[in-house]
Amino acid sequence: MHYLLERQLKKVFNGKFQLSPELEAFLNVVSGTYDNYDKDRKFLDRSFAISSKEFLELNSKVVKLLEDLKIEKESVEQKVIERTQELRQKAEELNRTNQLLTKREHELTLTNERLLELDKVKTEFISVAAHQLRTPLAAIKWTLALLIDEHSDTLTAKQSSYLMKAYESNERMLRLINDMLVVTRIESGKMRYDFSSVHIEDLVDSVLVDFVGQAHARDIILTFERPDMALPYVTVDPEKIRSVLQNLIENALYYTKDKGVISLSAKRENDFIRVLVKDNGIGIPSHQQSSIFNKFFRADNALKAKTDGSGLGLFVAKSIVDAHRGEIGFESTEGVGSTFYFTIPCSDRT
Ligand code: ADP
Repeated sequence: MHYLLERQLKKVFNGKFQLSPELEAFLNVVSGTYDNYDKDRKFLDRSFAISSKEFLELNSKVVKLLEDLKIEKESVEQKVIERTQELRQKAEELNRTNQLLTKREHELTLTNERLLELDKVKTEFISVAAHQLRTPLAAIKWTLALLIDEHSDTLTAKQSSYLMKAYESNERMLRLINDMLVVTRIESGKMRYDFSSVHIEDLVDSVLVDFVGQAHARDIILTFERPDMALPYVTVDPEKIRSVLQNLIENALYYTKDKGVISLSAKRENDFIRVLVKDNGIGIPSHQQSSIFNKFFRADNALKAKTDGSGLGLFVAKSIVDAHRGEIGFESTEGVGSTFYFTIPCSDRT
């Protein structure tokens, strides 16, 4: 019998207790229940013990996790503080650089304004000086021409040659002054264009006649290959395009030796008319070809050939062709020759 039941029976009946077989059977069942209760309790206790162990383990894991998280959080916070500080420094640096740039930009704007002002003054000065020089030079030109013409029979050969040299130098100076006036006009945006419709072949013909004598005197073949069919009209400032043609032909004559060949041609290419001036002259060194349209640029070939020139002709020609929405260019091989061309849009283009 279960010890608890036995103790309770003794306490209640004080030892004076007679067990009938039925009561004994009943008490055995009750004792079995006590035994079962004991077993259940032990099982429960064990379960509790296991659960609390697991709970403790879990708890310590959670505690550890929380500690790790705390450490992680502190490290992240530290990093955020450091990054914020870095960013603040960077922002301050940027701010300083920005201020410096603004200052420099302001200084540059001022310098630029000053340079523009100086350039304007320079352009005005050149323009005034050139205008002032043109009148006396023109007077000298006509006086020299008169002297050479009217006193040719009284002048000695030496005197005539001196007067001719003076006349030519005067001519060169006049040309240079005219070129400079054109350049100042281009640079100050005061170049005026007077457009009208022309046939480019007629323009080429009329320019060419001025050079026939010069070419003939040097045994240079100067030709114009007229296109088979009339080219369409072009809308140009005839005087300006004439000056471009003059410059290209003058250059071809300058840089082509006696007995050379210079041929002009004109053709239609899509919506443009292309005019070409081809010579078999001294050509342009390849390393200087990219500078040829720069103001005052004269290539080594020109300096070697000792020809007179200002280095302004092609600069002016380019500006004029640009104003006609055309293109100017060349191909050249030193010692073989050059082909200069320019294009002008056709009037009938769509
Ligand atoms: P300039 O002829 O007065 O020197 P340009 O502006 O007309 O000035 O020409 C610039 C330079 O281009 C010349 O000095 C010369 O070196 C070169 N050049 C131009 N045309 C020719 C040509 N047909 N053949 C060889 N060189 C040329």
